[in-house]
Amino acid sequence: MKQKITLLFAFLLLMTSNYNYAQEKTCGYLEHMQEKLQDPDYRAKYEARQAAFQIEYERLLANPQARLQTIYIPVAVHYPNGNESNRACLVDLALDQIRILNEDFSATNGDISNWTAASSNYPGVNLGSIDVQFVLATTNHPTGIDPDLIEGEPAVTIGENVLDTDSRFSGYQNFIVKPIAYLGYSPLGGQPSNGNSVVMNTNAFGSSGAGCPGFIPGAPYNLGRTVTHELGHFYNLYHTFQGCGSGDRVDDTPALASSTGGCPSPGSVSSCLPTESALTMNYMDYTNDACMYMFTEGQATRMNAHINTIKDDWKTDVLSVDSFDINKVYSIYPNPANDEINISLTSNAVKEASYVIYDLVGKPIFKGDLSLDSNIQSRKIRTSKLTNGVYLLMINSGKLSATKKIVVRH
Ligand SMILES: [Zn+2]
Repeated sequence: MKQKITLLFAFLLLMTSNYNYAQEKTCGYLEHMQEKLQDPDYRAKYEARQAAFQIEYERLLANPQARLQTIYIPVAVHYPNGNESNRACLVDLALDQIRILNEDFSATNGDISNWTAASSNYPGVNLGSIDVQFVLATTNHPTGIDPDLIEGEPAVTIGENVLDTDSRFSGYQNFIVKPIAYLGYSPLGGQPSNGNSVVMNTNAFGSSGAGCPGFIPGAPYNLGRTVTHELGHFYNLYHTFQGCGSGDRVDDTPALASSTGGCPSPGSVSSCLPTESALTMNYMDYTNDACMYMFTEGQATRMNAHINTIKDDWKTDVLSVDSFDINKVYSIYPNPANDEINISLTSNAVKEASYVIYDLVGKPIFKGDLSLDSNIQSRKIRTSKLTNGVYLLMINSGKLSATKKIVVRH
């Protein structure tokens, strides 16, 4: 009981002492949590999650090598005010946002190269990434909602009143896109089995060029980074500007008293300590989408710990991926690949097979035969025409399939 009170007190203290409105970019997670914690049932679950998180966090801090196995996170996207006639566009918008999330959380976003020059201002700060893959769910959709939710098609609801407590979508990483008073909000340390959702404004979902009628990403928050930021809260990250006291509970992010907006040059903004600069390019500050591009190693550890504590919450039957252990059957190298990647048979478990390479939003890029036998032990797949980034290699053999993340870097 004492621990519960301490946890609650710590949270309320954070909310009251560092209450922080910024003009630039508005995230409503504090207000959202303040409201949610009024509910004793929600509060009890929140405290239990935080207690479990703390144990896992300390375990990971003590064992920096303990990394996530790749976790495939099933995503559902909801447009309560959307128009069914725009479905194709709204699905593409969802896929665009998922691509951004996959890039940002795996640190394969194009603009992360800015860190090379910026990092000299931040000694001791390293880039962080987590090994998750967000995939739009396609199978076993909840029934009794949106008749246009078709088996095999993406889990995107349109014109349905899906709330951030909707139990029908428990076990998904839900995004609800609708008009709200903020750019976005999320629970802190959310729980998929409770149907917890990230809620986004209609002008802060997806990137410019991918908008649909009523859902146009608005500059300067038009690169999908607000969703990265909100999902950071869902995985238990505070703002980097959580205050000069206990800060954001991450060692390698300089503590800040107030948020940063616009697009400051690296090292130009002070932190709480005169010897450290504000990490304004961090996703958990309020700078323009074009000027934020990284999580730190410490933030990644914190997110890893939260994801480990909720790992059994994800629905497993909503992605059209069945599995065998790809690494026991094939040797796939080099990875990262430059102009080609080799797939060699290391076991006789799978002979007749085919492969498909998908980009991170699930669009097939190319496919081919992968049948190997005693005469043909290896095949090369040319990757020279792929742009730099992360792809999914799926190998299918009969009813079995397996995927492996491959990285292309020229
Ligand atoms: Zn926020």
